[in-house]
Amino acid sequence: MIIPLHPRLTDSELRELEEITVEFGVRIQPIHGHERSVYAILGDETSPDLINRIEGLAYIERVDRIQAPYKLMARESKLSHHRVALGKKVLPGDFCVIAGHCTIDPRQKELFLETAFGVKEAGADMIRGGVWKPRTSPHSFQGDAKSLEILMEARERTGLPINTEVMDFEQLKICVEAKVDCLQIGARSALNYRLLQQVGEMTRNSGILVLLKRSMHMGPVSEFILAAEYIVAQGNPNVMLCPRGTVPTIEGFRSAPDESITMLLKERTWAPVVVDPSHSVGKAVYVPGACLAAAAYGADGILVETHCQPKKGVGDDPKQAVTPEVLARIIRDTRQIHAFARHYAPKAQAS
Ligand code: PEP
Ligand code: MN
Repeated sequence: MIIPLHPRLTDSELRELEEITVEFGVRIQPIHGHERSVYAILGDETSPDLINRIEGLAYIERVDRIQAPYKLMARESKLSHHRVALGKKVLPGDFCVIAGHCTIDPRQKELFLETAFGVKEAGADMIRGGVWKPRTSPHSFQGDAKSLEILMEARERTGLPINTEVMDFEQLKICVEAKVDCLQIGARSALNYRLLQQVGEMTRNSGILVLLKRSMHMGPVSEFILAAEYIVAQGNPNVMLCPRGTVPTIEGFRSAPDESITMLLKERTWAPVVVDPSHSVGKAVYVPGACLAAAAYGADGILVETHCQPKKGVGDDPKQAVTPEVLARIIRDTRQIHAFARHYAPKAQAS
């Protein structure tokens, strides 16, 4: 870590800083220029207590970290060669598509099955469908546990793996017992650290994948990566990072589209990035463009809300679901862009 200072620490300030560094087993290397000085702190700087103690000193204005705060998620960690198998695809490397309803309506089972076959024909690798839904209003449809059976029937009949969101321990247990192939941790739950730990614990050695959305309230990219670290630290490295837009929103879009952070995530971690343009832009007409952008930014896949008859859907489907026909074109074109984007990926990411 580097502490820049203008002009330099007094003797007593330096002594106080030295006492802290001794306590944490690191050392200070001062570098004095004409006008300003910098103090390099050498050694393991990952302890948040060390950073907080230094940042808490009245005469320290700024601390620049060199080491990433995450360990297992770092590109150079022992997991750097880990690959995630999603259906027949292996990530990073291949390009995957997860598609299906925002919400499964248990009164319209046939519509979901029609969509499931539609996305399969379009070339999707995994079917998604919301069983339990995090709705802003408690008066909106909250989902229905019965929909899990419909989702499982879709898996059985299409042969494709399935993805659904879990918001609490009860739902997590049900889905692990049902061997749901991929658990989604939504944007609202991405800051629920206890749930992230429970997901890691419950899916350890199970082969179950976890799609972790970026919370709309997350700022620094490291905050998102550290959320994934909670799951991986409990023993499940099969995590995919999913940017889905943040706040404050951009007028006209549902969120502030964040497909571009794919490049930063790919640089800093080994985990595959599967972008969700549907919740980012929030309107069916903008979704194809945002999908193409995600592929150009180097994403390993996309999650696209898709419905065979969006007007008959519930939840987000009437406004942001594309049809399986549009999905087929998106898949054809994003695959090509993914292949082009790989030509520009730094060597470490392309391997
Ligand atoms: C969803 O995928 O339907 C959903 C609710 O997503 P998010 O958590 O990103 O809002
Ligand atoms: Mn949705």
